Amino acid sequence: MVAINKNKPVCVTGASGYIASWIVKDLLDQGLTVHATVRDSNKTRSVAHLWKLADGAKGELKLFDADLIRPGSFKAAIEGCELVIHTASPFVIKGITDPHEALIRPAVEGTENVLRSCNEVSTVRRVVLTSSVASIYGDAVEILNAPGGVFTEQLWNNTSSEHHQPYSYSKVMAERAAWDICKDQSRWDLVTINPSLVMGPSLTTQTQSTSIDVMRDLGSGRQRTGVPMLEFGIVDVREVAKAHVLAGFNPDAEGRHILSAHTASLLQMATILRARFPNYPLPTRQLPKFLVKLVAPIAAGVSREFIQKNVGYHLHFDNSRSVNLLGVKYRPLIETLCDHFSQMIEDGLLKRR
Ligand code: NAP
Repeated sequence: MVAINKNKPVCVTGASGYIASWIVKDLLDQGLTVHATVRDSNKTRSVAHLWKLADGAKGELKLFDADLIRPGSFKAAIEGCELVIHTASPFVIKGITDPHEALIRPAVEGTENVLRSCNEVSTVRRVVLTSSVASIYGDAVEILNAPGGVFTEQLWNNTSSEHHQPYSYSKVMAERAAWDICKDQSRWDLVTINPSLVMGPSLTTQTQSTSIDVMRDLGSGRQRTGVPMLEFGIVDVREVAKAHVLAGFNPDAEGRHILSAHTASLLQMATILRARFPNYPLPTRQLPKFLVKLVAPIAAGVSREFIQKNVGYHLHFDNSRSVNLLGVKYRPLIETLCDHFSQMIEDGLLKRR
């Protein structure tokens, strides 16, 4: 049992990112001091929204420069904190030529660097790590062998590799490293948040998050001819942020927490959005798997193995730990999708047909 003192600063790594910005907002609105790490605090465009959040909020924002692959670079931001929320990790799926350097090294070495600094700073009592359902399963086909046909926190992804699903591999290796480092000491405990696909409005236009790409691909007309039957667990970014904060301050929080409110296919998402945004070129049909398998490697840079193991499966997630132990309340899917789409229109990222 760990009671975190709210008068002490909270460190949030990767603070300018899509999810982390909402975490920072929640903490500042509660009146806390946030030690926010970014790669380069002089990049005005990347951090302007954080200063805007701090303006008028009850809490205080302090920015620190830190890079996942620079050992020791997080230590200054962690000094004095009892709670460290480690979100920084690349969430990029497309256009990766060197998965080790682009994904695995920053995720795994970065987590090790942050947690070693936690070991060196005597104030740290709890670490909340942004993991993913990608560290629970690798490919959708694994639902067929999941006990009870449901993905739970008991499961670990042991099918991804540097060559197949490298992002998922980066997440499972980073989470495993975190539990290993945690086990070797007793001053701080570890709680993980394992979200499915996060959607909902972004506080920044500067993020590289694949969440934004998924919505842009749906609404930009790029998938006008049709979409594969790819199903996702989906959760609102505001609930994901809230879960990190609840996990940070709940003395009894422990272990892993799947954050996933709904499951929907790309076509189901597009159908919900089309009812509200009829003038945008959203896809209207699902493509047969054999056709997707034929064209996807060239059209979308996706392997036939990925299509074989992920297209055509219905997913089920057990989110009961997030609801019963953290007290997360999930909003309806229509609100998450429509708020996200509206915000992207406002930001000029989506155009009418
Ligand atoms: P994001 O906006 O791209 O945030 C990623 C953050 O990581 C950015 O702040 C980025 O900093 C930072 N980062 C990347 N490489 C770094 C490096 N070498 N050194 C320091 N910082 C670095 O994406 P997000 O969706 O919010 O993802 C945040 C976390 O949630 C990640 O751990 C991701 O795996 C996890 N997650 C996301 C989803 C989802 O659907 N979005 C689902 C499950 C889990 P810069 O701004 O400097 O690039």
